Amino acid sequence: MLDHERRKLIDQVGITIAIDGPAGSGKSTVSKIVAERLGIGCLDTGAMYRALTWFALESGIDLTDQEAVRRCADDLPLIMDSHPRNPRLWVGETEVTSDIRDPRIALAIKHVSTNLAVRKWMAIEQRRRMMEARERGSGMVAEGRDITTVVCPDADVRVLLLADQEARLKRRTLEIYGDTRPEHLEIVREQVEGRDQADSTVSEFMTPAPGVDVVDSTGLDVDAVVEGVLALVDTNLTARA
Ligand code: C5P
Repeated sequence: MLDHERRKLIDQVGITIAIDGPAGSGKSTVSKIVAERLGIGCLDTGAMYRALTWFALESGIDLTDQEAVRRCADDLPLIMDSHPRNPRLWVGETEVTSDIRDPRIALAIKHVSTNLAVRKWMAIEQRRRMMEARERGSGMVAEGRDITTVVCPDADVRVLLLADQEARLKRRTLEIYGDTRPEHLEIVREQVEGRDQADSTVSEFMTPAPGVDVVDSTGLDVDAVVEGVLALVDTNLTARA
């Protein structure tokens, strides 16, 4: 199907696309390109966890106090621009688009992402954003760890993006350092393995739930992965139109 044909069908029936995967699986890059091709929004759910971590730290909250962090979520004045080419994020008046990528956030985030009350709050908030876009006759690609299973198990298209450990590590290292020197690979290996381990205690994102399609990006370039996801979109749109 051509992009303009896909867009026409989405205008009629809307679409929700859920993409899960571990760190370095390429889900962020792939989701943005798919969203742009379809002319719909892209929801980076990791950025929402990062923004809440930023806000809790700014508010001086002890991140191990689960109840306090949960209350902080209720007060989070989060504004998101979901445009795939230039996603931006504000907490109140403060733009935090680049601040949430700070290593201090990556270090602290596990206290927030393993807080089950926070995860419940996030799921409601993320689902609301996806469904509202669909009902408007547009759509949303949401990427994260539990979108295909908890946030939107009824999404029109559900994809688990996998890649073998070394491929993921190389991608992340290139992204952060612009090269794959052994010493950089080792630093990133520690970060990625630590985060995936903490995340896997609260969500399953290495095995597909029933009905979820696996796209394995090992050895594939971005274009090939995007085409793989778009083929699933086409099947869904054709069935619903
Ligand atoms: O995707 P990103 O690296 O920005 O995600 C940051 C962190 O947010 C992840 O390591 C994970 O702890 C958490 N996260 C999550 N569930 C999601 C998305 C992100 O727990 N759906």
